[in-house]
Amino acid sequence: MGLMGVLKKIVLFPVYVVSWLYHFIREKNTFSIRMRLSLRYTVILTLALSVCGVGFIATYSLNSVYSAVSSNHTDFFNLINTKSPAYPAIEEFAQTHSAPVVVYDLNENVQFASDPAYAQYGYQNPAGIVHDEHGLWLAVNRQTVIDGAFVRVLIYTNITEIAAQTVYVARLIVSIFVPVLLVALILVIAAGGGIFEPIRNMTRTVKHISERNLTLRLNVSGSKNELKELALTFNEMMNRIEDQYNRQKQFVSDASHELRTPIAVIQGYVSMLDRWGKNDQEVLQESIAAIKNEADNMNELIDKLLFLARHDNNTFELQKEEFSMTEMLSEIVKETQIIDPSHRFAFDINTELSICGDKNRLKQALRIFIDNAIKYTPAHGEIAIKLGKENRYITVSIKDTGIGMTEEDLKYIFDRFYRSDKSRTKEKGGHGLGLAIAKIIILGHKGKIKVRSRVGEGSEFIIMLEQGVVSDAAGE
Ligand code: ADP
Repeated sequence: MGLMGVLKKIVLFPVYVVSWLYHFIREKNTFSIRMRLSLRYTVILTLALSVCGVGFIATYSLNSVYSAVSSNHTDFFNLINTKSPAYPAIEEFAQTHSAPVVVYDLNENVQFASDPAYAQYGYQNPAGIVHDEHGLWLAVNRQTVIDGAFVRVLIYTNITEIAAQTVYVARLIVSIFVPVLLVALILVIAAGGGIFEPIRNMTRTVKHISERNLTLRLNVSGSKNELKELALTFNEMMNRIEDQYNRQKQFVSDASHELRTPIAVIQGYVSMLDRWGKNDQEVLQESIAAIKNEADNMNELIDKLLFLARHDNNTFELQKEEFSMTEMLSEIVKETQIIDPSHRFAFDINTELSICGDKNRLKQALRIFIDNAIKYTPAHGEIAIKLGKENRYITVSIKDTGIGMTEEDLKYIFDRFYRSDKSRTKEKGGHGLGLAIAKIIILGHKGKIKVRSRVGEGSEFIIMLEQGVVSDAAGE
């Protein structure tokens, strides 16, 4: 057993060294991924080499032991089968083969011992290792018949030489493996440099990306691998951020532009008042009315800007509840008729339909469509509002006989600050934010908006909303 322990220690020595190094370095924690990977590969290589080495040494030593033992046994059994009486011949065998023989009866009592010293080691079954001043012995127990009696024979084979050779081979293997492993570690670390170069390049590029340099992108040339995947994903993210950033910039610039007009008008009236209006009742009245109008206008614009600044299609939060669409439309109808007596209205909203959604927001959106129909339809024109159902959708159609829109206009009317050329010149024209807001609200409800329009004939907006169920009432 002592020898096996020594053998084990010699063979596993490189594994101990590398695993100690590995843990030592891991604890330091400041090592790069490259170093960690290199160490991991080296540990794997060490284990593989150790398994090979142990396998080789075990095969070599077991094979040698087996040949020595079986050669002794073959000679011994040839002898007892041919010689009678057998014991003198066994005595001679023990001398010539340097293989002490001890014979036991079936009750394990010593019958014969070529060298009494070996009888003291007792009855080994089926085999045992004995160490004395002559070296290392392997005793193998076999049952047989000697001179007509059943006995058990223990033949001691000297394996000192084999053990020494095994230790020599083990040392040889270790002395080859350790330098091989060290060279492998160095090579693995050196080879790792190339692998991590793209990561270093990425870090360099990312460091340079700032709000003034949003167009920079990672290099995605080269073969397809996990890093390329990461670079592509990063670039896609940067595209989205850049797009959002540009839109935000555009929004701020458009918003400032929109606010400039009412402020300029107010300033104009204030200077006019300052110069001539203090005592002129008419100028005074006109200026107050104009300033009030512009202030209202600005108020409305700022409300819309705030809505757009706070919400977009993804961050819009709803307070959902189940309510009657029919009732809500009736409220809007009443309010509209009071505000606008100059148009003819046709309502078809009697079908009782309820929906799960944010009542206030949906009312706000529908008002936008109806206000537009009023704004862009000349006096006495007809505006038809119809509530209906189409498959799983509730539909609200707002149809006017107004100025209509060109196909080109239809592409952009939902963009922020877009106004068609006609509405731009129109006195009542808004800021081009209404439909952008309505779109956020309707899409926030997973609804759809369809538009049909023809210049000079009128337009129809159809809002389609899923009926929904109360249970998904939490804001999405
Ligand atoms: P605005 O406040 O200018 O009305 P919107 O976002 O509500 O802004 O509408 C954007 C543009 O779409 C309007 O300027 C107008 O050109 C066009 N538009 C919207 N609704 C109608 C309609 N019912 N008839 C004709 N044009 C319309």
